Amino acid sequence: MDVATNLRQIQYNIEQACAKRNRNPEEITIIGVTKYVTIERTEEAIKAGITNLGENRLEGFLEKHAYIQDQASWHFIGTLQSRKVKDVVGKVDAIHSLDRISLAKEINKRAAEPVDCFVQVNVSGEDTKHGLNPDDTLSFIKQLEAFENVRVVGLMTMAPHSDDAQYLRGVFRRLASLRNTVKAEQLPYAPCNDLSMGMSNDYQLAVEEGATHIRVGSELVGS
Ligand SMILES: *Cc1c(COP(=O)(O)O)cnc(C)c1O
Repeated sequence: MDVATNLRQIQYNIEQACAKRNRNPEEITIIGVTKYVTIERTEEAIKAGITNLGENRLEGFLEKHAYIQDQASWHFIGTLQSRKVKDVVGKVDAIHSLDRISLAKEINKRAAEPVDCFVQVNVSGEDTKHGLNPDDTLSFIKQLEAFENVRVVGLMTMAPHSDDAQYLRGVFRRLASLRNTVKAEQLPYAPCNDLSMGMSNDYQLAVEEGATHIRVGSELVGS
């Protein structure tokens, strides 16, 4: 299927999910995850109107970024090793996988200005997933005050692959509630307005539960 057709379907599904919760579809940013596809397919996504792209590995990111450059905003969505921070800072608009102090320290050191970061939370507790324990998230964010180039714009999670809508809703609600807790602290360096949650399998549910950024790969550009 061409990307434009897939995108129309996704936008329609987002509108339906928003209608259920009285949300404005414009509040939701679709991040096109291009990790499975070629540069040609990525360019097709841009022509179709995608303005935000996500990559989860450094090599894939650098390869796509070299061609696409600032035709899109870039989101680094995968695990980031500290020694690779210098290669992404200055090129990415947001990092969705901040989950440890050593990484914050490195971002702070390498960046010339504040970097938008999502703190990754392992809501489901699956040990294959990266991210903080929900109970440790607020104290982790409080420690980030020391790093003037780290700005916490929101929280991110990856839900387990599941067909159980109630279970997935529970994961998304937990992240939304944690976001509200952090936001209520009114930390100047952590406005924490955003929620990066929802992928091909579950983005409608995530939008119903408050997602502001959905990360869609296979349903949009294919796998
Ligand atoms: C691959 C990936 C996605 C997109 O996955 P799809 O199921 O293909 O939509 C989203 N977020 C992260 C962190 C990913 O690694």
